[in-house]
Amino acid sequence: MADERNQTQEDILLDIQDLHVKYNTSDAVCYAVNGLNIQVKRGEVFGLVGETGAGKTTTALSILRLLPQRIGEIPQGKILFEGQDVVQMSEDQMRELRGSHISMIFQDPMTSLNPVLTVGDQIAEAIETHHQSMSKEEVQAKVDHVLKLVGIPPARKYEYPHQFSGGMKQRVVIAMALVCEPRLLIADEPTTALDVTVQNQVLDMMSNLKEELNTSMILITHDLGIVCQMCDHVAIMYAGKVIEQGTVYDIFDQSKPHHPYTIGLFGSLPSLQSDSKRLKPVMGLMPDPTDLPPGCEFHPRCGSCTETCKLKAPGVFQDGETHMIRCHLFSK
Ligand code: SF4
Repeated sequence: MADERNQTQEDILLDIQDLHVKYNTSDAVCYAVNGLNIQVKRGEVFGLVGETGAGKTTTALSILRLLPQRIGEIPQGKILFEGQDVVQMSEDQMRELRGSHISMIFQDPMTSLNPVLTVGDQIAEAIETHHQSMSKEEVQAKVDHVLKLVGIPPARKYEYPHQFSGGMKQRVVIAMALVCEPRLLIADEPTTALDVTVQNQVLDMMSNLKEELNTSMILITHDLGIVCQMCDHVAIMYAGKVIEQGTVYDIFDQSKPHHPYTIGLFGSLPSLQSDSKRLKPVMGLMPDPTDLPPGCEFHPRCGSCTETCKLKAPGVFQDGETHMIRCHLFSK
């Protein structure tokens, strides 16, 4: 039994415990993440799903400690990466961690690449930052290798970003993120800026590379189709909290209990099985993070809201070992 527990602990690469993040602006305090708990295992793809403003990107920036300086603050919580708390690390330790152990792919490849450097130089820079003892020949061999991995002929390393299409630019960004073989890759809406056909190619490629390099991945998206295709584990976020979490089977199994917000997300999707003429979207908007409602943050938009929901924050209902829902409907 003790061996099993140790094995489970060793399997966990990232363990975020009770994370709170706020932005202190001159006008108000914005509560972006409010008690987040997630665990990412080695080798798995973990999906973070939610609307704009749910706190997904803030969570990702917190893991890399890239919150806007002076404004962003982590007042509470732990981000344990391989057992070490990122929140307590020095700037030198963070520089070592970023790129070589944890990498991030941002949404828009246009803004992730430097327009005045060739793509080869940009990938080489990422290698040289973390492997200063490598010779120039070794660096160039690694650049060629990683370009081949993402399906770009190495001869194109002498070209500039503007000579690449959107999909090819995103491949370059992925090459830069993977070149130091990080243990965790955070991909923030990596295909949103791409055409649907290119999206599929890039997702397939990321999936293959993940297998090849055994990298864990946090995939941030609002696209449930991508979640179904890519993820092992899913957390649905709302107003800076995880409101439902489970394996991809728990979340997509319609016969299981679900949070009203999750039901709304699925209701917003067209279905091939039903012939209903209208979708059933979640009405209303995400609450203002500077003025979150009391009780359950979802109550102003929830069709099942009761008086208790307006006053008391819901606890966690555990549905089996892997599935949890944060809602009064189930905690009863
Ligand atoms: Fe709706 Fe109440 Fe559940 Fe919140 S706690 S999702 S308001 S039923």
